[in-house]
Amino acid sequence: MSDAPASGLGDLDSQDDLTPADGLTRRKFLLGGAVLAGVATAGAFGAGGLLGAPPAAAAAPPGMEGLPAFVPGTKLTQDQMRISFMGTCFLPRIAQQCNSVFVELGNGDSFVFDFGSGVSSKYVAMGVQYSRMTRVFLTHLHGDHMSDLITLYCFGPSMDRKTPLHIYGPSSDAGDEGTNAFCNDLYSLCKWHREAFSFLPTGLKGHGDGYDIVPHELPYMESGIAYQANGVTIRHFPAIHDRDGSISYRLEWKGLSMVFSGDTKPSTYMTRHARGVDVLIHEMVVPATVWATKNSGGLKPGDTGYRAALKTAKKVQESSHTPEDALGYILSKTRPRLGIATHFQVNDDTVGPAAKAVRSWYGGPFAIAVDGLVVTVTHSSMKAEFVDLDRFAWYPKPKFYPSAMLKPPKYDGPLAQLNDRLLRHVIPEKDYTKRG
Ligand SMILES: [Zn+2]
Ligand SMILES: [Zn+2]
Repeated sequence: MSDAPASGLGDLDSQDDLTPADGLTRRKFLLGGAVLAGVATAGAFGAGGLLGAPPAAAAAPPGMEGLPAFVPGTKLTQDQMRISFMGTCFLPRIAQQCNSVFVELGNGDSFVFDFGSGVSSKYVAMGVQYSRMTRVFLTHLHGDHMSDLITLYCFGPSMDRKTPLHIYGPSSDAGDEGTNAFCNDLYSLCKWHREAFSFLPTGLKGHGDGYDIVPHELPYMESGIAYQANGVTIRHFPAIHDRDGSISYRLEWKGLSMVFSGDTKPSTYMTRHARGVDVLIHEMVVPATVWATKNSGGLKPGDTGYRAALKTAKKVQESSHTPEDALGYILSKTRPRLGIATHFQVNDDTVGPAAKAVRSWYGGPFAIAVDGLVVTVTHSSMKAEFVDLDRFAWYPKPKFYPSAMLKPPKYDGPLAQLNDRLLRHVIPEKDYTKRG
């Protein structure tokens, strides 16, 4: 932890290269925080059917070209904390899925913060097994922060997560809205899937079942410890977002620290709890005028519907989010070694104005995240890399459990849950297996 911005970022640009707003190149002011322009070449269907070659890899986003390439699966050294951005937007888009950040520590621990739609595929491409995703810390229960949990819950136990899924998240004044209720509902919602897959071993003897969910509901109005083990402490503190029941987190380990805001209006909770943190990951929203145009198919002032779109955008900002200049203000108060904006649509025409607004308050190291940004931190270094994830990746090498450790499956075999009338209609293998 430090109480002043670092002078540089390891092998990245020095802080001097990261100032000021006017006359900057994107590369210099954003640490590669990023504009998506690369377009993949489409695969092709030929006359004879699907041609074999997969599409070419997407080009690196402009602003990220200069960053070193991160190689998924790279092992951490014992003094490192690594933060991987798996989802960085509130509406899913191809280059930016909904929100999730994966934090790995040199002691072998790993933690998931939020799990919005689309991010499961990013974790697979990053080589992260379900067995390393057993603790999920939700900032709040908006869909863009929890909507891929069905995938994580349902498929973990049939792969290599054979222990319960721990879900941390805020309480609510309404008893049926908080994390306990959410976990109960998730469990109920997935019953058919759970039963259907229970012809496979889904648990370890003496360790519960992979299909168990253990909720950890945290009082949203309080600051306190959410998790503490193995030298890691994760604290929660209130966020101000839409409706009572949102929180932010601060992780600390071996003197290194990270704050993840989730969604919040600018608040003194943040300026207090994030002060001096190593990496502050904070949401940021485009101005209402940009929102109104971009999220309405390009409506401009004077067009029918523009005023209504602007009104909606202003309501969203008023209830929910942190404007660009407010993030600059927060960074100037907290002075992290690195500030990273997320929950932000990265485009050629959004990052420049955003960075300028942030820079009006703050000249320290700052980046805007896209999916695939990886930041590795030690006490003496801060390194940012980018990975152009393999869009055709398969599941990484799973954790292996000897069969003696596994609980026997609930159902005897793959056909045990199918009734005789259905089974009579199964075409026998010998009928479609070619002879000779
Ligand atoms: Zn959100
Ligand atoms: Zn939200």
